[in-house]
Amino acid sequence: MSITKTEIMEQASRRSSELIELTSQLIRINSENPTGSQRPVIDFVKQYLEDSGIAATEIAANDEFPCILAKIGSDEGYSIILNGHVDVVPAGDLSKWEFDPFGGEVTEKRILGRGTSDMKAGVAGILFAMRLLNESGAELTGNVRLHIVSDEESGGQYGTKWLLTEGHADGADACIVAEPTSNYTIEIGQKGSNELILKAHGTPAHGSLGNYKGDNAILKLGKVLSHIGELHEIQGKFPQEEAQALKNSRLIAADKLETPGIENVIDHVTASVGLISGGTKLNVVPDYCEARVDIRLPIGADEAEVEAKIQSIIAQSGALDVEYEITWKATGNYTPINAPIVQTVKKHAEALWHIDVLPAYQWASSDARYYREMGIQTIQYGPSNTEGIHSYNETVDIEDVLNASQIYLMSLCDLLGVN
Ligand SMILES: [Zn+2]
Repeated sequence: MSITKTEIMEQASRRSSELIELTSQLIRINSENPTGSQRPVIDFVKQYLEDSGIAATEIAANDEFPCILAKIGSDEGYSIILNGHVDVVPAGDLSKWEFDPFGGEVTEKRILGRGTSDMKAGVAGILFAMRLLNESGAELTGNVRLHIVSDEESGGQYGTKWLLTEGHADGADACIVAEPTSNYTIEIGQKGSNELILKAHGTPAHGSLGNYKGDNAILKLGKVLSHIGELHEIQGKFPQEEAQALKNSRLIAADKLETPGIENVIDHVTASVGLISGGTKLNVVPDYCEARVDIRLPIGADEAEVEAKIQSIIAQSGALDVEYEITWKATGNYTPINAPIVQTVKKHAEALWHIDVLPAYQWASSDARYYREMGIQTIQYGPSNTEGIHSYNETVDIEDVLNASQIYLMSLCDLLGVN
């Protein structure tokens, strides 16, 4: 008789100390990006998989930032990718830490260190789930593929995006990215980040005559910039079936960001002037100024509508000769709330945590979008204490780590025919 899901879960509970130790081991390997080397952590992951009886392959676009691929199950059937990054942001000023960021210390309730939440606990959770599923000998009606990357925190060009252009996600049906989330949120969509450049030309003159002579490019651009926030009036368009996800997302944004009206970032365009440069010298009326604006599109936003609005802002500012360039890089993207991967993870997360778990959209973006762009149903769900991420004193709760890994494992069982 073949092994049951219940028996696999009993194994996971019995061996939970292995998962805690695995997380701690990953923390003890410094993998700061951009300052550190990714070689030791990638070697460790490869060895862990091989010790689990799983063949692992290393591939790299850049030898300093290798990726690990692995697969268990059959070639046919439902195919699920597990994705995680092993690089971490630099620890920064060590005197601001209350513990050694690379000590991997385990307390009664927590694991401490750089990368615990973002996202070595998540990586440990998917590695452990894959190991248990493989060692169980359960027959799968599909397969699990592993994508471990070492370049996410510093540009990411050697990580997930590269793996996908090399064809390593071809044919997959679903993907779980184990990036940190709240335990009550499954991230199922995000906004698209784009760049707008505004350029103003003027006429130079001596600074002493500035009120009378010359045409000041900085002031001209300022007239447009003071209205650029009006792009926020543009709304996304969400299919009727996704109404609940939109409602959840607005609720979560209001709750977490604690600023009146901020839930509108979910379903409206946002525009943030991030960079400006202009002028050559204090005593010269500037003849050139340029600004770069971070434009985020919600799901269903119309690029042509955004462009028309930019034109109308320029026209109304009176600075008619201000030019613009937009680089469209990403649209809002989502996985349907009723997708099997969403509903399965939701069911198991709710059963373990005894809370409502809300599928929702992020206001920012991540590697998940590359999978979604390929039509792969993708979610993010991972263990974390969000307050330490990219900051000092990063930690993760042991309960979070154990539950997340169990949720991955049970979801894989359900989606791959292990009952
Ligand atoms: Zn991350």
